[in-house]
Amino acid sequence: MNDHGLMNTYGRLPVTFERGEGVRLFDTDGKTYLDALSGIAVTGLGHAHPAITKTLQAQATKLLHVSNLYHIQEQERASEALLAASGMDRAFFCNSGAEANEAAIKLARLHGHRKGIQEPAIIVMEGSFHGRTLATLSASGNRKIQAGFEPLVNGFVRAPYNDLEALKHIAANNPRVVAVLVEPVQGEGGVRVPDSGYLAGLRKLCDAHGWWLMLDEVQTGNGRTGSYFACQQLGVMPDVITTAKGLGNGVPIGACLGHGEAATAFGPGQHGSTFGGNPLACAVAHTVITTIENEQLTQQAAQQGEWLRQGLRQRLANVPGIVTVRGWGQMTGIELSTPCTELVKIALAEGLLINVTHEKTIRLLPSLIFSQAETEELVDRLCPLIEQFATSKAA
Ligand SMILES: *Cc1c(COP(=O)(O)O)cnc(C)c1O
Repeated sequence: MNDHGLMNTYGRLPVTFERGEGVRLFDTDGKTYLDALSGIAVTGLGHAHPAITKTLQAQATKLLHVSNLYHIQEQERASEALLAASGMDRAFFCNSGAEANEAAIKLARLHGHRKGIQEPAIIVMEGSFHGRTLATLSASGNRKIQAGFEPLVNGFVRAPYNDLEALKHIAANNPRVVAVLVEPVQGEGGVRVPDSGYLAGLRKLCDAHGWWLMLDEVQTGNGRTGSYFACQQLGVMPDVITTAKGLGNGVPIGACLGHGEAATAFGPGQHGSTFGGNPLACAVAHTVITTIENEQLTQQAAQQGEWLRQGLRQRLANVPGIVTVRGWGQMTGIELSTPCTELVKIALAEGLLINVTHEKTIRLLPSLIFSQAETEELVDRLCPLIEQFATSKAA
């Protein structure tokens, strides 16, 4: 296939989409697909949501960009909505998840230097994913995305995920640690959901050692787990939250939110972005946040996610090679005992968009607007494909 001169960074599937509506996409041949991936947790409100279209159209006639050298009304409104939804104190807007994490890493280092620690370190987890910039790929716990890009950025200490005891050991031996950066659910790492007390345990540990708790909610945030941010269901107040993906429903925007000291650590000139917080992206983010609230989409995501896993467990109960069905809200992983990347193409041919992470885990990230009928349709259409595939592998 002609690559049109594009750099070879993605193994693309043989399909081009032209249009979307709600939970469906339409390709250039007019074929319809049920979208259970949402552009990797981005289009939480589905495709072509009327409120988003209206906001984009209205803002496009007014103002796209001015620069952060000036006050930006739309940015202030998005900030207030995001802080009200999260209980955090201040926001910095950028354009992606990696950039939001870069801001968090810089904040933590600043915090360290102010405490007199010249070479501050941040604890990061095995299996984590924080982005593709040099600092965020260095923070990520996946050799595949680091290999070939050494030297890595230093100042990170690696710990096993979902293991508080290991962190206690690190605490006793690393006086340079200033923060922990962690995902409430490891998305790219295979939809790994930690024990229910893990984040609260981390909060306690951070308090005991004067560390900041920094949550990467780039994928879990914006309603996906059943509350605006995942930590809110656990009663955990972090020092920093980073988010992006679902915040703009497809318009690029990210945010780094600070609470307490972390909210006021940056001074003028210490961080910035040309595009970050522009009127267009912020107008859309404001609409996303208020729509999630007004249409009670966090509740819907929690309920549909439960039904989805219940349906999958029932239908796959007697299928060989299914290790487990796990998840939280509208993040679901179906782990198989064999590599199953082929299933992505099989499903595509059947008009179903899914993803596989960590080779053996089917990942489903439906939009927050999935209805019960659409959840049932997903179960009905996906399970026979999994069954056929798993049975052929077991034979
Ligand atoms: C996707 C993702 C990122 C990176 O976001 P980009 O917008 O691609 O830079 C960071 N952290 C997590 C948890 C993610 O899922």
